[in-house]
Amino acid sequence: METGHHQNRRAFLGRTGGIVTACAVAGLTGSGGTKASPAPGKPAAAEAETRSLTDQHYLLTNVRLEEGFAYDGDVVTATRTALHSLEIKAGKFVALHAADAVLPAGVPTYRANGQLALPAMRDMHIHLDKTFYGGPWQAPLPRQGKTILDMIAREERLLPQLLPTSQQRAEALIALLHSKGTTVARSHCNIDPVSGLKSLEHLQRALENHRDDFSCEIVAFPQHGLLHSKVDGLMREAMSMGVAYVGGLDPTNVDGAMEKSLDAMFQIALDTGKGVDIHLHEASPAGVAAIGRMIETVEKNPALRGKVTISHAFALATLAPGALAETASRMAAQGMTIASSVPLGAMTMPLPQLSEKGVFVMTGTDSVYDHWSPFGRADMLEKANLYAQLYRGSDEFRLSRALAIATGGVLPLDDGGKRAWPKAGDGADFTLVPASCSAEAVARLPERSATFHRGRMVFGSVGTA
Ligand SMILES: [Zn+2]
Repeated sequence: METGHHQNRRAFLGRTGGIVTACAVAGLTGSGGTKASPAPGKPAAAEAETRSLTDQHYLLTNVRLEEGFAYDGDVVTATRTALHSLEIKAGKFVALHAADAVLPAGVPTYRANGQLALPAMRDMHIHLDKTFYGGPWQAPLPRQGKTILDMIAREERLLPQLLPTSQQRAEALIALLHSKGTTVARSHCNIDPVSGLKSLEHLQRALENHRDDFSCEIVAFPQHGLLHSKVDGLMREAMSMGVAYVGGLDPTNVDGAMEKSLDAMFQIALDTGKGVDIHLHEASPAGVAAIGRMIETVEKNPALRGKVTISHAFALATLAPGALAETASRMAAQGMTIASSVPLGAMTMPLPQLSEKGVFVMTGTDSVYDHWSPFGRADMLEKANLYAQLYRGSDEFRLSRALAIATGGVLPLDDGGKRAWPKAGDGADFTLVPASCSAEAVARLPERSATFHRGRMVFGSVGTA
């Protein structure tokens, strides 16, 4: 299979001259097309559109915003919306004008044609640094009978083949994220003996090219084991290169020393003043013990409070209700966060129960397309849809609440039906969809027609006046 990788890489490199175009095309049309479906209220006649909008100060008219819920008794039966003109200046919403308001004169004006504005999506667990996306089709090798250590051995062979194009692939994946309405992310980045700091350097170059259209914090991820691959020193170097979080990985199954591994990870965070975001897949009693050890560590070290995320945390799905409630309460008290990919399978993660206890739950698209998984679409709205399906959220109110997992908790309406977003002064980070309300968007997954980051259109098109 190594030969196959080599052939694929050569084929990929063979068209280096076209890589930027190829990436752009992959990002823009690989997502299922750039033309929005006709939006509610969109005129039938063809009209002028633009793909370029970089004005510092402009108006976006005919934007659908949510106004409140409609009720039958105490049951939410529908969402009320109205058209507005958004006035955007220096990356922020400065005014929301009613549809019939007199608009400021002399300001460049664009049209959203009745499409709904949703808060920009936030992909809080993704691996931008070692993706297959942007290259030729390649399925993962069979996983049957393979341990995580077998997978690490595979990755040791694969990384040198991916590294020469990892920057371009990361940028192609950022373009795909834009096309799905995502402009903010947290990316894990391999720190391992094979790639050294190269994966990080390439990812940082990719992010530098997108500094105006994409915000991304980085987790230094010891994918081959913090102790197992002896990368403590490399991890500390990564911390000095602008990385925000110390990562970790299965301290029992990979490092074979739960307490020592976790202590080493936290020590790097404490020494460098950074946060922690650990991959914990262990669904065994050892995984439960690791979560307990992490909670204790944060309880003893106030400097870590509010700065620790456990990614996946499958062990929480094995807890009895009483133990889960106690664990969740302790996590909430320390401001600990869960990042879950909302997995399908025999175990259902207790995400609503964690949220009810005050644990902040976020999600991400994780391995969009790499040697771990080929199925990701990099679509956070799809994660909200999955959340609604898994946790019986098929009614208007629960569909509208499910959006929170895709947007980092930002919702157009609060639970009482008052508009919470957007407000004057908020960052102009949003995406336009041909849907009548967020409940419909979560259920029906419309294409995104335009995405905005700090007021700048980073994907799609809008009508010109
Ligand atoms: Zn991951």
